[in-house]
Amino acid sequence: MEIVCLGTGSSTGTPVIGCDCATCRSVDPRNKRTRASVAVVIPEGPTLLIDTGPDLRLQALREGLIQVDGVLYTHTHADHLNGIDDLRNFCYLQRAPIPVFGNENTVRDIQARFGYAFAPPGHHWDKPVLTAHAVDAPFQVAGLDVTPLPVLHGKLPILGYRIGDIAYITDVSEIPEATLPLLRDLDVLMLDCLHDRPHPTHIHLARSLEYAQAISARKTYFIHMTHRMEFVDTSGKLPDGVELAYDGLRVRVAPR
Ligand SMILES: [Zn+2]
Ligand SMILES: [Zn+2]
Ligand SMILES: [Zn+2]
Repeated sequence: MEIVCLGTGSSTGTPVIGCDCATCRSVDPRNKRTRASVAVVIPEGPTLLIDTGPDLRLQALREGLIQVDGVLYTHTHADHLNGIDDLRNFCYLQRAPIPVFGNENTVRDIQARFGYAFAPPGHHWDKPVLTAHAVDAPFQVAGLDVTPLPVLHGKLPILGYRIGDIAYITDVSEIPEATLPLLRDLDVLMLDCLHDRPHPTHIHLARSLEYAQAISARKTYFIHMTHRMEFVDTSGKLPDGVELAYDGLRVRVAPR
């Protein structure tokens, strides 16, 4: 199994339009962050996406992504959802609908905002053709076991996801006690780390490090970072076993 970081940025992406800070001017590709999303790829098998941010098309082209067998939505903020229309190319290639998953609020909101994507396919498959599935317990998609991870994003209940021994938790301000047991024995944890200052709807560096230590995955990667997280400066402050993710990072995990 391979987890491919399509994007590791916050809602603005980095560089930020109109900003001339050191990170935004940096030529280090690891400081160029598109909106947060990952692909979970099983070699010779299915590929799942977690979220479809507004940069999906360019991310897919960059990573050679030509297959999507399901999408796990964390929540419906624009930076996680608004690339949904680009799923149409995968529906076209596969001549098949793509199932999408989320908690009940998420699924209802996606259907309200992108109703045209839930209609039967037209002759030319020129729109996304999706099927919606609300989940609140472990489920299977394309033969993979997926466990939803309820977390809080400010007051909003949203989902992270565990697939095998990897977990992805973005846009989180609190991981409830009841969710922590679902995070035992992880190989890889990808975890929100907005930046170095507290924020009402996201954990920040100090809090992300506390959670990383409490969950103690074999390796933790921070995601969904703003331009305040210059790659080299911030990496130098991290303990063993914790790293900053970057766009294009691929992490291989042995199957169980
Ligand atoms: Zn976000
Ligand atoms: Zn900046
Ligand atoms: Zn959000």
